[in-house]
Amino acid sequence: MNHQRLPILFFALLLSTTPNALARTHSAPQTNTPATATTHHATARAAKETTTPAPPSAYNGHPRLAIILIIDQFRGDYLDRYRADFKNRGFNLFLQKGAYFPDCYYNYANTKTAPGHATIGTAAYTDGHGISSNDWWDLARNQDRPVSSVEDERYRIVGAPDSSLPSKQPGAPDTAAKYLTGSSPRNLLASTVGDELRLATQGQAKVFGVSLKDRAAILPAGASATAAYWIDPASGYFVTSTFYMSQLPDWASAFNTGGRIAQAEQEANAPANTTEFYDLVGRTAAANSYELDFAEALIQGEQLGQHNVTDLITISLSANDILGHQLGPDSTYEQQMVDSLDTQFDTFFTWLDKNIPGGLANVWIALTADHGIAPIPSTAAQYGLNAATLDLDKLRDALNYAINMKFSPGEKIEYILPHQELPYLSLNQGEFLKAGIIEQEAENAVQQLLPAAIASLAPQPPEPPPSDAPPAAPTAESNGQTAQPSETRLPPRPVLFRSYTREQLADGPYPPTPWGELLAHSYSPNGGWYVMVIPAAFQMETLSSIQTTHFSPWSYDRHVPLGFYGAPFAPGIYRGRAEPVDIAATFAALLGINQPSASVGHILTQALRPASEVIYPKPKPTPPARAHHAAAAGAVHSPAASPKAAHP
Ligand SMILES: [Zn+2]
Repeated sequence: MNHQRLPILFFALLLSTTPNALARTHSAPQTNTPATATTHHATARAAKETTTPAPPSAYNGHPRLAIILIIDQFRGDYLDRYRADFKNRGFNLFLQKGAYFPDCYYNYANTKTAPGHATIGTAAYTDGHGISSNDWWDLARNQDRPVSSVEDERYRIVGAPDSSLPSKQPGAPDTAAKYLTGSSPRNLLASTVGDELRLATQGQAKVFGVSLKDRAAILPAGASATAAYWIDPASGYFVTSTFYMSQLPDWASAFNTGGRIAQAEQEANAPANTTEFYDLVGRTAAANSYELDFAEALIQGEQLGQHNVTDLITISLSANDILGHQLGPDSTYEQQMVDSLDTQFDTFFTWLDKNIPGGLANVWIALTADHGIAPIPSTAAQYGLNAATLDLDKLRDALNYAINMKFSPGEKIEYILPHQELPYLSLNQGEFLKAGIIEQEAENAVQQLLPAAIASLAPQPPEPPPSDAPPAAPTAESNGQTAQPSETRLPPRPVLFRSYTREQLADGPYPPTPWGELLAHSYSPNGGWYVMVIPAAFQMETLSSIQTTHFSPWSYDRHVPLGFYGAPFAPGIYRGRAEPVDIAATFAALLGINQPSASVGHILTQALRPASEVIYPKPKPTPPARAHHAAAAGAVHSPAASPKAAHP
């Protein structure tokens, strides 16, 4: 045998017997090469087949890290409205170097925070993932108040400082709780893209959720997440729940005690050691950099992007929502926060570029929001829109009175529960049943009584003239009525657009229109008996401590940004409707994993490069442990080794 051919044969045999070992070590392509090839022909074929790369996927760490970046309450029009302000690589990463969809709309009618975040993670709407609102009545669990979408009394909070515990409050009774009630994804009925990634990689992929809010950390990440982190509202400490772990990791404890809270308080002009961190710091731009710094600590602490499979993190930035409710979408403070975010994103993306192996080009980032926001009603009314507000306490009184008249005259039974939040109006199932009324009859009665109850909320007509004044002469326009036409615009009046009972939403039939699809997506079995109340556009419940909100099927609540950055995405502005459910669907398809269990998202193929053009930079190789591994690495060409590797 020719001695010079020996190394080649040795190498070919090595490839034919250990393809999987190579794949694991170098994120190189896997093959189905037979392990028993012995002839020259077979070994040559084996060597050739081994050079055919497997397409990039989660299984070979392409990308190293997938990020779903959610801005809580961020309307789709902001990026066009403030585009002239953007600098560097913040929002422009999506607008100029990524695939951007300016017309992304949620296709359901209950545009609240918890369902929005669940929708982003699961690629499903409320009828698929079960999360209908932030809170709902669950009389089996609590008779005194609605429960939150993620609170879970079976667990406790992990990581809050002693100063936040009920038992440590000044003058606390001996019976005061020694822990804070925990949270979990107990009500999430569908898997997320993160769950599918965990399952597909048999737990090798790490998946995390981060937010100031528990629901916004837990729901987009999913039940199998390695962990979700949010803040203790009093202290600002990042916490989790015993659903995930019984003790914070060292890197998280170090973040909490390392002076970052004091820095955020200072940047937000809040008092040091405040016990209102969520309210005072949470509504400022300082909260966004605080969260992004925590995300960096997490990525470093958990070595995200350093594994042989893809890791995933969802980051929901809460500050814009807290500020937006208080000041509305048209405030100059809103613009300032958008501009601050632009800079903060630039800093974060630059950090990722330096700290993820192979840089930012080995990362995917999706940008979206959980819902939009309505203009402040008084602002919309100034333009002539019928932007009335509905006093839900008065509505409840009017309905309770009318239901008593119908079913229990002379009594004052509370058939409608307190603490209501649109779009759902919760019924007191127990009281109806005591009166012998079944769900269908109860919900139908409320639905029938709603128009008159809402009409009764309208502003009262002006005082009638004194009785000794002469009656006004009828005019032709007033159809014989005596009132004079108004010389100025009348105040807005509440208008009921539609209402649907829980049974109607559960069973249909839905109109065979886009509206019918939107309704079908809004059904949830959570919340007991209820009627969904949809006021006319620009109308909302009367608010006390804030100026505007989101909850409706109207476009301003459903319109959110949708942008993608990463190797598979062909840069461009993509006109045409897209939906937030398309994020997890597209990510799952590109990662090579199953769609989330209830996915209705579309894969955004119009924004994808041809597979042959998807190129990832190869991270700097680590020194080989053994000589033959080095030889193999040199011989097996993955597309990542191409000099055409894209850089941001
Ligand atoms: Zn929200």
